[in-house]
Amino acid sequence: MEGGEPGRPGDGRSELEMSPDEMLAMARQVSEIVVKRLEDLDGQPAWRGGSRAELEPILRESAPENGSRADMVVERAVREVLPLAGRVDHPRFFAFVPSSPTWPGVMADYLCAGFNIFQGTWLGAGGPSQLELVVTDWFREWIGYPAETGGGLFTSGGSAASLDALVAAREAAGAPARPTVYLSDQAHTALVRAARIVGVPADGIRVIGTDDRFRMDAGELVRTIAADRAAGHTPVAICANGGATNTGAVDPLRELADVADSESVWLHVDAAYGGFAMLSDKGAEALDGLERSDSVALDAHKWLFQPFEAGCLMVRDIRRLEAAFSVRPEYLQDTELGMEHVNFADRGLQLTRSFRALKVWMSIQTFGLAAFRRAVARGIDLAEQAGRYIEASPVLEVLSPPTLSIVCFRFQPGDGRDAAALEELNDRVQAAVIASGRAMMSSTRLRGSYALRLCIMNHHTTWSDVEETLALIERVGREKM
Ligand SMILES: *Cc1c(COP(=O)(O)O)cnc(C)c1O
Repeated sequence: MEGGEPGRPGDGRSELEMSPDEMLAMARQVSEIVVKRLEDLDGQPAWRGGSRAELEPILRESAPENGSRADMVVERAVREVLPLAGRVDHPRFFAFVPSSPTWPGVMADYLCAGFNIFQGTWLGAGGPSQLELVVTDWFREWIGYPAETGGGLFTSGGSAASLDALVAAREAAGAPARPTVYLSDQAHTALVRAARIVGVPADGIRVIGTDDRFRMDAGELVRTIAADRAAGHTPVAICANGGATNTGAVDPLRELADVADSESVWLHVDAAYGGFAMLSDKGAEALDGLERSDSVALDAHKWLFQPFEAGCLMVRDIRRLEAAFSVRPEYLQDTELGMEHVNFADRGLQLTRSFRALKVWMSIQTFGLAAFRRAVARGIDLAEQAGRYIEASPVLEVLSPPTLSIVCFRFQPGDGRDAAALEELNDRVQAAVIASGRAMMSSTRLRGSYALRLCIMNHHTTWSDVEETLALIERVGREKM
């Protein structure tokens, strides 16, 4: 049919379609911009932002009734929106938890969007579901969960993974009326949020103290659980750190597993930041005992070098996760292809899911696991080297020694100034480093003390990036003294 159909421009395409040439031109434009961005990254500031007041007049508008040329829309996004953000993959971005995706991972996300994979059911996506089984089985093997029962699923991130885990833990405990969960004073806020969502009241969230290396005190945990049981509460989950975001601390997993076993309480390990350290020898040693947990939250968009979003929940007995999530409504009855077919929607919150396993698979297929092991190990080595630099510096003081890839410290002129003055000085150092654009770092608080914090895990980062940043901190600190 030519022309006349309403809403069609006349060449048989919908108004929302482009011709193959137009699509390729747009894809080429975007690819060139992204590749150039990566090539130029080192010379770019590690962070750029803008205040709401500056950005409102630039970006505020009603949705336009009529479209514009695609290349101009792309240019506008690349000029006015995308650069105003932290370059989380910049080689001197050491704040929070950096992420430096591999190119095959980025391309995998493009492929998934292009093939428009609906990764909720086996009927919806058999090949992708099989691949998600394969990739989560790699993770299962790395963790050391049994082949017969271990399994998991990809999630948006660590927060969603921990939420799914706590749902399973609550159900496994029989959905008690007065649930309690246990986490250390170093736990990520995602766990507090997850506990709230699964119905643990604020007074049921037990914060357990930590030792001098910020590891959960197992003795205090045992005493708290006993007191809670005596008071009529039902412990639902012990949430351990498999690399705390503050300091990299790993809780004593074997000890906590013993407690979890004898108390029959679910042991969840939040390894969103630190989990993939298990690919290196030092990391595997630090995470010893991980296989004794009931569940582990991982973030492949952190230390497995994938683009956002790529979280994962792994469970020692996948049946316990499916028992918590599987609900089969009539409109999905056709999705039952047979018992051996996994519907990933039965393992978590999302029905419509993107196909996140492909990026992990494509980048590991491309570079080989050994390259990932070395990249992870380098982060740990660089953090240790940073620790030695700080130790040797007359004006820097270690506050938490390198653990996994994180080191916390402060500028310490040693002139006897009090804690408040030190904090104020370090705050100014931190702001000046960010303002310089050369590096990005964040601060934290350790036992009340203000600490500068470097998290070193970008596979592009070299020792000279770290050294330059530490020297910058020393120089700026001296200027601000
Ligand atoms: C990043 C992180 C989270 C949250 O994960 P998201 O992917 O941001 O949802 C939870 N716990 C730890 C330790 C983390 O590092």
